[in-house]
Amino acid sequence: MKIQYLGTAAAEGWPGIFCNCKVCKEALRRGGKDIRTRSQAVIDDKILIDLPPDTYLHMLTYGLDMPSIRTMLVTHSHQDHWYPEELMMRREGFAVDMKGTLDIYGNDAVKESLERVVADALVYSPNRAQIAYHEIKEFTTYSSEGYEFIPLKATHNPRENCFIYIIKKEGKSLLYANDTGYFAEETWDFIKGQHFDLVSMDCTMQKIKIPTNHMGLLNNVDVVERLRQTGCVDRDTKYVVTHFSHNGGWLHEEMEKQAAEYGFSVAYDGMTVEF
Ligand SMILES: [Zn+2]
Ligand SMILES: [Zn+2]
Ligand SMILES: [Zn+2]
Repeated sequence: MKIQYLGTAAAEGWPGIFCNCKVCKEALRRGGKDIRTRSQAVIDDKILIDLPPDTYLHMLTYGLDMPSIRTMLVTHSHQDHWYPEELMMRREGFAVDMKGTLDIYGNDAVKESLERVVADALVYSPNRAQIAYHEIKEFTTYSSEGYEFIPLKATHNPRENCFIYIIKKEGKSLLYANDTGYFAEETWDFIKGQHFDLVSMDCTMQKIKIPTNHMGLLNNVDVVERLRQTGCVDRDTKYVVTHFSHNGGWLHEEMEKQAAEYGFSVAYDGMTVEF
């Protein structure tokens, strides 16, 4: 299996779109891996995770083949993960010669915002966007294009059922865990008996350890410790941290130094990991 990180920032991007802080200015000066767009990933160039407002940029920068994507998993409805207006560009007149339906999987909040956008768009045009939305429930197994996936309960926005995902194919298994804080007990209970080859974790706050909603590096260390105790990982498991905010304070080089202490890789925009 292969994961490509297309975007690795928290909501405002890094540099933050309206931010004047020192780390944002330094990121702009350094460029390269310090420039982070809103979070999105693709598995084997096939299974797209989330639809941030930077999706179009990811298509241009990394050759993401959007017309051929058939499966999209959505974590939650925050704007840095879900920009449903873009899907209206699938309608006739905006997209020519589309090859089929896009299956989108997500929670009820994601569904509601999609329905609002579709209702608005239909005022101007009756053409369909060839989307099939599947409202899914945590701790249930689904499949698409030969992949199995299981949404788990994230610890994030308490007003919505946010998901993290297990994604599996041919004996390989990925835990994709953002946006989330330290996992809920129900999630720990469910993952007993699972084995992960790659664990990808929310590290929004970097040097700051926080109690909920997101994580910092030391929260990630706690998660990995518990995964070890639970028997979900082994010596070959890879760990990647992602979804960084400038409020966490560490530019890429420093983040790499800190994460290396624990054997974690630090995601950057465009990074690919095979496992
Ligand atoms: Zn986010
Ligand atoms: Zn900033
Ligand atoms: Zn969020």
